[in-house]
Amino acid sequence: GRRPLVAGNWKMNGLRSSIATVEQVLEGLTPKLTDKIDVLICPPATLIASCVAAVTGSAIAIGGQNLHARANGAFTGSISAEMLADLGARYVILGHSERRAYHHETDNGVHAKALGARRAGLCGIICVGETEDEREEGRTLDIVRAQLGLGVPKGATAEDTVLAYEPVWAIGTGKTPSTADIAEVHASLRDMLGTMVGKAEADKIRILYGGSVKAKNARELMAVENVDGALVGGASLVAEDFLGICAAY
Ligand code: 13P
Repeated sequence: GRRPLVAGNWKMNGLRSSIATVEQVLEGLTPKLTDKIDVLICPPATLIASCVAAVTGSAIAIGGQNLHARANGAFTGSISAEMLADLGARYVILGHSERRAYHHETDNGVHAKALGARRAGLCGIICVGETEDEREEGRTLDIVRAQLGLGVPKGATAEDTVLAYEPVWAIGTGKTPSTADIAEVHASLRDMLGTMVGKAEADKIRILYGGSVKAKNARELMAVENVDGALVGGASLVAEDFLGICAAY
């Protein structure tokens, strides 16, 4: 079976004082839980080094929220996969809808970034998801399958790739798709992965759900077939809330 992954995306939130949140999550995680699930926190890049220091030797992994596809060079303000890995990051979120919307990220760009993550030994969490208009037009499966097909590189494995289905209209809104709708999308993504990397590997790749995951809906959402964990925004900023989601397992 696939080992669930509960991942927190802090987005552009967190100062040095927020390392206390990581320490609280660490204190709240029981061995019984971390025997079953992987836990990841993706703070802003400014806090990666100190968060890694805070969780060293524990079951919590630290990740980035974005990277530049190239390893180094004249790209002022950018951070490479090698730099994230050098700090001790193990994962990186790629193609989040906020990056697509506000930083013009394309599927081809996400593909290049995924190759960068693989090159540096990071696991890329590739995000896909439809807008409200696209869902209303009945285009959800076409959209997410296209994002997957273009974004996920050839030869993707469960070691270097995690998928995250995040409907754009569910992010930060308190709205979620029905469990039937989530099951339909995740099954379709798994099916498409199978045609890309073979069924055996596709069955090992984790597909997270993200969008208004809270402690009170986590149990229901995480029980959906082919949902292998959560990508959590707002509720990952408060240790008690994030632990409540982990406790769904
Ligand atoms: P919320 O959990 O705040 O809806 O955000 C989801 C998200 O975008 C995680 O990447």
